[in-house]
Amino acid sequence: MTVKEAISELTLLQKKMHALGHATGMIYLDSVTTAPVGTAEGRGETMGILSSMGYELFANPATEKLLKFLREHEDELTEQQKREVVVLTREYERTSKIPQDEYVAFRVLVNEAQSVWHKAKDQDDFPAFAPYIEKIVATLKKFAAYYKPDEEPYNVWLDQYERGLTMSTLDEFFAVLKETIVPLIHRIKNEGRQIDDSFLHGHFPIEKQREFSDYLMEVMAIDRSHCGIGETEHPFTIDFNKRDVRITTKYHEDNLVSSMFSVIHEGGHALYELGKGDELMYTCLDSGISMGIHESQSRFFENIVGRSEAFVNLIYPKVQELFPEQLGNIDAHQFYLAINKSEPSLIRIDADELTYCLHVMVRYEIEKMLFSGDVDVYELPDMWGRLMKEYLGVDVPNDKSGVLQDSHWSGGSFGYFPSYAIGTAYAAQITHRMEQDLNIDSEIASGNLKGIVNWLEEHIYKYGSMYDPADLFFRCCGEKFDPKYFTDYLTKKFTKIYDLNQG
Ligand code: ZN
Repeated sequence: MTVKEAISELTLLQKKMHALGHATGMIYLDSVTTAPVGTAEGRGETMGILSSMGYELFANPATEKLLKFLREHEDELTEQQKREVVVLTREYERTSKIPQDEYVAFRVLVNEAQSVWHKAKDQDDFPAFAPYIEKIVATLKKFAAYYKPDEEPYNVWLDQYERGLTMSTLDEFFAVLKETIVPLIHRIKNEGRQIDDSFLHGHFPIEKQREFSDYLMEVMAIDRSHCGIGETEHPFTIDFNKRDVRITTKYHEDNLVSSMFSVIHEGGHALYELGKGDELMYTCLDSGISMGIHESQSRFFENIVGRSEAFVNLIYPKVQELFPEQLGNIDAHQFYLAINKSEPSLIRIDADELTYCLHVMVRYEIEKMLFSGDVDVYELPDMWGRLMKEYLGVDVPNDKSGVLQDSHWSGGSFGYFPSYAIGTAYAAQITHRMEQDLNIDSEIASGNLKGIVNWLEEHIYKYGSMYDPADLFFRCCGEKFDPKYFTDYLTKKFTKIYDLNQG
């Protein structure tokens, strides 16, 4: 085999993997947006076949041989090809270490767990779901031992979502957050002004909200010929390649801002995928590098842009035009205060910017204990209640609004939650760096977010998966990650919003 032949084999392999991913992704998107309820059976059959085709295509000795050959001829490869080999080798080492039957059994387990979780949540029946958590954690611990026998299993899964992330980094990170956020919450409760947000919960016809979504995507400079929007239960973004990205939202007639922030958040994910370099198309590098970096992009648009006064001033004339009866008598500043109202609550996805990370911290503490065996699965509801009381000061009335609220565990995603908090904190530091080049408020005031999007494209998007998250972050910010930027940002913002004494 010549190097040239090996490279064209590598290219073809990646194109085939992309095609399978495209097909399964499209089937998934259809299943959670427009597919009728009775269509799951055939889809399950197809997904099963496609997923074993994917396994067989990739996790076979020919791939190993090809990657080994290319590593031996590294000097003859371009930077991008070298990186493709690195990323695929890591992927190969992970996938091939798990016996195929165990891999398939795990897919079956989480499939079942997801439908059991749905039902358990509806019926507030934690004991029905508990055995699945137990089995999933046991399997993940076993898989972690296949990947890296000498590493703590939970660290192995953290690393899977955010390469390099460990419990010791996170313990320190969350301690810093807690130190700032908990006292701030107390001060807001005791000394803060009252903020009225009742007008956000009027009646907002869905047809008008759809128009509003179109307007928001236009302001965000999202190219609609390459990015569609659909409706679903739990909003998400999916990309097939940089020229075909889809976002989803959920409309609530009695709540204007729920979908508004879903569109802005998912729009942030979409911009990242739309802005990757052309040269990465159909390769394993044609996607955002990690959950944490991805979340930094969505949370940047959602919080730092979307919840800023400059952004409210820009969009508010349109908001009033669409909802004259509901918001005609409310001015932009009142709207700005209302969307930033902070109040400890039970549900993570409805949490405000200040309390959000504490919700993540509850899940992180519990996941750590599950993996170390320090908590029994059946004790989780009590543990959840205790932590929610300690961090947020709220009482959890039932498991539905407690330990059963998120879908992640049923899908086998342990170690995923921390990337939400890490990404949120990354966003504050990226903002600090961006401000050295741009005046963010004047960019927003100019009428759309093109200038900001261009900056992000240049510093983050275009690289796709060319660099590991910590390297990309350093390239972008010129320094290592420091949560201080985030805690300073929160302190400054909420001191002002709640008119707290700055002493
Ligand atoms: Zn997100």
